[in-house]
Amino acid sequence: MNRSTSEQLYQEALQHIVGGVNSPSRSFKAVGGGAPVFMKRGSGAHFWDEDGNKYIDYLAAYGPIITGHAHPHITAAITEAAENGILYGTPTRLEIKLAKMLKEAIPSMDKVRFVNSGTEAVMTTIRVARAYTKRSKIVKFAGCYHGHSDLVLVAAGSGPSTLGIPDSAGVPQSIAQEVITVPFNDLEALREALDKWGEEVAAVMVEPIVGNFGMVMPKPGFLEGLCKLTHDNGSLVIYDEVITAFRFHYGSTQTYAGLDNHEDIIPDLTALGKIIGGGLPIGAYGGRKHVMEQVAPLGPAYQAGTMAGNPASISAGIACLEVLRGEGVYEEMERLAIRLVDGLQASAARHGIPLTINRIRGAFSTHFCDHPITDYEEAQDTDGEMFASFFRHMLDRGINLAPSKYEAWFLTTEHTDEDIDATLEAAEDSFRAMSAE
Ligand code: PMP
Repeated sequence: MNRSTSEQLYQEALQHIVGGVNSPSRSFKAVGGGAPVFMKRGSGAHFWDEDGNKYIDYLAAYGPIITGHAHPHITAAITEAAENGILYGTPTRLEIKLAKMLKEAIPSMDKVRFVNSGTEAVMTTIRVARAYTKRSKIVKFAGCYHGHSDLVLVAAGSGPSTLGIPDSAGVPQSIAQEVITVPFNDLEALREALDKWGEEVAAVMVEPIVGNFGMVMPKPGFLEGLCKLTHDNGSLVIYDEVITAFRFHYGSTQTYAGLDNHEDIIPDLTALGKIIGGGLPIGAYGGRKHVMEQVAPLGPAYQAGTMAGNPASISAGIACLEVLRGEGVYEEMERLAIRLVDGLQASAARHGIPLTINRIRGAFSTHFCDHPITDYEEAQDTDGEMFASFFRHMLDRGINLAPSKYEAWFLTTEHTDEDIDATLEAAEDSFRAMSAE
């Protein structure tokens, strides 16, 4: 496959943009280096690069593009918003509509605030939890990624782990020492941390279903135990649902049918992003009324944003959720994901390649290993070189995945059986080539 234009553009980008990319997870550093593919146009489950090559897309822009590229309902909503004037700096009716949709789908959110990214949403939930509890430390789980604000860059998975920098430079020790990290799915470790530092802990922050060291479900009882231990300690539970909300069903983890005891896994604060903006920049956070009343102008915790709640992002978000509310949408994504996962597993086995796949409805992660993946340590203990080889073989056959062994594959509402067939054919060829290497 000729990608010479991408290579030229990459050389040019390197002159002007640090590392040639505006988010490090887009670089190919972890998969052998070289030029990332420069995309030009997308439609449905497909996109085309600057050389005219076509790809089936499972990156979905790291999650937001759950309705595929250039979905007509979302495009129309963005166009209407642009025609009406892009930004006013005043409240709009639209913001109320999206806030109500989120509240209906996520019952623990009595009050909502829109921001511009998942990073901002998470960062603010921590500030609110600190203001509410008047404590300063947070507990997080190893390998969970919560955006790039100082506090949560300690032992972060996803991009930082992919690039070998789980603890970022530039985060002062005084801040890093406010964070306690424990393994995911390990209640005993959480109990020990709370025994030791409990009175100082403002919040326990978790991806309730992990999306950043692969897709990992909480073990039965983990979220219930986490909520109980945290609340008994007088701390708040923060769910980072930037990836997971509206991913597996029309709602969030707290009402996901794959988990029992919904009334025992209710967070105090939830951070959102990605899907709720339909592909435009957005974040949101919300939670119990008396906690959210810490936020200015009602309370002393300050958070603001020139672009927050802008009509284009909000309109795209409303349109995206309207599509997702359609009959059988999640069932269809799951049906295709099952076909794909079963086929990948069978194909890898035929060529003697160890492959563990964690699938949750229409999203899954592929791990080159022969053990299960339930925490970050297990996710690290997989064959990165084999992933890199698979990634490159698939790319050359027109299948676009994230260039990281920790990131998920996302089905969209626009993938079809033909896409799955083509992907399985590419995978069969890739595994065959890999087994001969
Ligand atoms: N939290 C989680 C769980 C995420 O996966 C991400 C992004 N991958 C973020 C927060 C940060 O969101 P953003 O990139 O929009 O700042």
